[in-house]
Amino acid sequence: EAFNAAVAAAAQLNAFIVTTPDHALEAAKKVDADRAAGKELGKMAGVPIGMKDLFATKHVQTTAASHILEGFKPEYESTVSQKLWDAGAGMLGKLNLDQFAMGSSNETSYFGDVANPWRRNDGGNAKLAPGGSSGGSSAAVAARIAPAATGTDTGGSIRQPAAFTGISGIKPTYGRCSRWGIVAFASSLDQAGPMARSVEDCAIMLEAMAGFDPKDSTSLELDVPAWAESLNADLKGKRVGIPREYRMDGTDEEILKSWDDGIAWLKDAGAEVVDISLPHTKYALPAYYIVAPAEASSNLARYDGVRYGLRDLPEKAGLQDMYAATRAAGFGDEVKRRILIGTYVLSAGFYDAYYTQAMKVRTLIQRDFEAAWEKCDFVLAPTTPTAAFPLGDKLDDPLAMYLNDVFSVPASLAGLPAMSVPAGLNKDGLPLGLQIVGPAFDEQAVLNAGLAIE
Ligand code: GLN
Repeated sequence: EAFNAAVAAAAQLNAFIVTTPDHALEAAKKVDADRAAGKELGKMAGVPIGMKDLFATKHVQTTAASHILEGFKPEYESTVSQKLWDAGAGMLGKLNLDQFAMGSSNETSYFGDVANPWRRNDGGNAKLAPGGSSGGSSAAVAARIAPAATGTDTGGSIRQPAAFTGISGIKPTYGRCSRWGIVAFASSLDQAGPMARSVEDCAIMLEAMAGFDPKDSTSLELDVPAWAESLNADLKGKRVGIPREYRMDGTDEEILKSWDDGIAWLKDAGAEVVDISLPHTKYALPAYYIVAPAEASSNLARYDGVRYGLRDLPEKAGLQDMYAATRAAGFGDEVKRRILIGTYVLSAGFYDAYYTQAMKVRTLIQRDFEAAWEKCDFVLAPTTPTAAFPLGDKLDDPLAMYLNDVFSVPASLAGLPAMSVPAGLNKDGLPLGLQIVGPAFDEQAVLNAGLAIE
């Protein structure tokens, strides 16, 4: 009954692409059986979670919210989802997202927009974007349909939707979670992470998701720390860095005010506040929108009408015609835009001017953070330049859409752990998020600061 009520609520938001009640029920039954047998229960025992539809799930449709993968049922399970099942979790269903995780509003999905469960308090009834690309995940958790969900973050796709819906989400250090079995967007940036209602829930779930995997060549060979057990909101002796370059033109006043609130809360928790400089911040967004499409254009080459999902085979057509017809029909506009940008910046005449330059910027951004860690233990910044905007508002303006990611992409390019935590409501009654970025491998610093703000 509870499941059916949740399904009805979820249908209004369009959060799920498919539901899998039997999967969640089996997990619950197994917990009962294990408990009766006196077996030790896993960290996620019996927790019914939502799974972003970017994770391959065995015999359950996996689409990346694209027509080109419609009907694709993998013969394998992603490492991260398998780890969650091994820890006792069950799956409520596959969550909607921006197509191939490209977007900031969940409006590029082939399966339709997702609505943010929040509404403005002025009676305006416009449906708001839940953020993206993990928009089904953020909406389902914020609406209390699922206690937690998986997300993936390439340039902000866990943090920005978490901020837009008043929940928490952490992108761990690049390499903490295996990318094996996750539909690839930009392989040098993609990371999985949890989205949940509290920092503690995120810590518990991240422990279940993380860990070395020989099937991912960039997986970190590190033990998974006991993050949840070590949570500590006492920040005495810790230094929080406030990067002055993040005070950007075009940022809403209310965002700057919430940043100031966050600084005050961290001070109250005992932290010392230090002014820091991340001088190459302004180059991060343009560099990201070269590197990510470049990698995407290569990763998406595999969708050829032969191996997965959709095949469009015009009559009397040759192989090239089949490729062209399948890709023309299967990919959405934003995905095609990324392929065009990506192939352009990688082409012989332009490679040095764009891709090589962007890779240099990436190194400079990494060095900015390395220098910052001499002065502070973690960084506090806004997650987004605005609160949630109405669906449709930025759809015709890709550059305005890309600007959503201005605060989130630096940590992505540097591979650092970064989290968004809820930081109160704006005057319209909409949630705002604050972002904490930490040194590589120091998720604990990020989670502790998040706990102090929460
Ligand atoms: N909004 C960014 C993009 O469209 C980030 C997406 C993501 O992190 N998957 O590329």
